Amino acid sequence: MSASELHQMGVAELAAAIADKKTSSVEAAQALLARAQQHQNLGAYLAFNEDLTLTQAKAADARVAAGEHGPLLGVPLAHKDIFVTQGFPSTAGSKMLAGYQSPFDATVVAKLAQAGAVTLGKLNCDEFAMGGSNENSAFGVARNPWNTQRVPGGSSGGSAVAVAARLAPAVTGTDTGGSIRQPASFTGVTGIKPTYGRCSRFGLVAFASSLDQAGPMARSAADCATMLSVMAGPDIDRDSTSLDHPAEDYTRLLGAPREGASAAQPLKGLRIGLPKEFFGEGCAPDVIAAVRSALGEYEKLGATLIDISLPRTQLSIPVYYIIAPAEASSNLSRFDGVKFGHRAAQYDDLIDMYKKSRSEGFGPEVQRRIMIGTYVLSHGYYDAYYLKAQQIRRLIAQDFQQAFTQCDLIAGPAAPTVAWKIGEKSDDPVANYLADIFTLPASLAGLPGMSVPAGFGAGNMPVGLQLIGNYFKEGELLQTAHAFQQATDWHTRAPSGF
Ligand code: GLN
Repeated sequence: MSASELHQMGVAELAAAIADKKTSSVEAAQALLARAQQHQNLGAYLAFNEDLTLTQAKAADARVAAGEHGPLLGVPLAHKDIFVTQGFPSTAGSKMLAGYQSPFDATVVAKLAQAGAVTLGKLNCDEFAMGGSNENSAFGVARNPWNTQRVPGGSSGGSAVAVAARLAPAVTGTDTGGSIRQPASFTGVTGIKPTYGRCSRFGLVAFASSLDQAGPMARSAADCATMLSVMAGPDIDRDSTSLDHPAEDYTRLLGAPREGASAAQPLKGLRIGLPKEFFGEGCAPDVIAAVRSALGEYEKLGATLIDISLPRTQLSIPVYYIIAPAEASSNLSRFDGVKFGHRAAQYDDLIDMYKKSRSEGFGPEVQRRIMIGTYVLSHGYYDAYYLKAQQIRRLIAQDFQQAFTQCDLIAGPAAPTVAWKIGEKSDDPVANYLADIFTLPASLAGLPGMSVPAGFGAGNMPVGLQLIGNYFKEGELLQTAHAFQQATDWHTRAPSGF
C-alpha cells in the first residue's frame, strides 16, 4: 500500500488492512516513522527508536502470520512522554529527566504492547503535564497543524498534533485538569478521559495523583473505544487508586441504538444537560455557536436538551490551582539530583546541590507550582487553603450528582476559545489557568469526559464539544459520540496539507 494511503487510515482501517495482509505492521510503521520525521517542524515527537519499533512490528507480523487477530494487532501508536517506556527516553517534557531511561513500561503502555500495538515514539508535552499549550515543554513548542502559528493545547499537545497531522493513527495522553480534552478540542481530534482510577497510573510520571488519568486520543470515538478497552482495567497491586472494576469492551455499544430507540433516532430518550455556566459570557461566541449547532445535530438524533446548573463551576479554578500544585510539590520532591534527575555540575554542599539541581532542572511553571503547593500545605495555611479547597471539591462533585438526577449526560464546550497564538499567553500564568474552566469541574469530581470535534470557530480553528458522564459511563459517552460521528464528518476533516 502507498504511504499516503497508510497515514490516512485510522486504527480500525489499519488493523483490518494488516489482518487482511493488504499491508504489514512493518510497512505501516516504516511509512508512519518516515512521515513523523518529515514533519518534525511540528514538534510532535521527542524521541524515536527505529530499531525497536521495527522489532515490535516484525513480532506483530509474526502473530498475524500465526493466525492471531486483534483490534490493535500490528497498529503503530505513540505515547505521551509522561508514560515511562523501556527502550525510549522518558522525560515528562522536563530537563530534569532529559535522557532518563526507564527500566520498566507503564501499565497502560504494557497493555497496549500485549495487544500487539507498536510504539512509534514519544510525544511532546508540557513539563510534568503542567500547562495547556505545550509551551512549557523543556524541548520546544508543538505546533497546531491547523495553523502552525497557534498552540495545539496541552499538556498532551504532541499527542494531539500527532493525531491531527496524521503522524499516528492514535496515541495515549493524560488528563489531570483537561490535558486530553482541551488539546483534542484545539486540534479537531477525539479524546476521552475515563473515570478517575479506570486506567492504571503505574508508570505515569506523577503530577497530581488524585486527578491524573490516562486516556486515548484518536480520529474517532470508535478508535478511542478500541484503545480504551485495552488500556483500562484494574491494577490494584501497582496502583492503590486503581478501581477494582472489571475491564469492559467499550466498543459493544457502538452503532447500537439506545434502549427503546430506533436506527433513525438512535439517541431517542437521551437527556443531555447543558450547564448554564458553560454558555455564559466566559465563553467566546464562535465556540458557543459551533457547540450549539452540534447540539442541534444531537437533537435530530433523538436527544433532548435540558438546561441545568453547575453552580460552583467558577470555583473549580481556585480549587484546582490549590490542590494540583499541593500534590505536585509533594510528588516532585523526589527529583533532588540524588535519587532521580538532573544534578548540577558544581555545588558547595548538600543543600546547595539540591538548590542548584532543582533550579536548573525545573522550568519556571513547575517552580511556580512547587512554590504555590508548598505554601498552601504549610503550617498555618493548610486549613485556610488546602483543606478549604478539598471541601469545595466535594461540593463540586455533589453538584454533578444533583445534575445527573435531571439528565444522562452533560454537554458544553471543552474550552472557552479556539487555540490561541504561540506566545500570546506565555507571560500570563493566570490567563492560562482561566482557560481550563470547562475541563476542571469533571476532573475534580473524577468523572469521565470527552471532547468530540464539533466544527470550526474564529480563524477556522477547530472547536470541541465536551461530553461528561457519570462514573463508569465511558461506554455511553463513546456511543453518543459515535452516533454523532456517523451523522457528521467534522472528525474526518484534516488540516490542509496533511
Ligand atoms: N492545564 C491544566 C494545568 O495546567 C491541566 C493540565 C493537565 O491536565 N495535565 O494544570
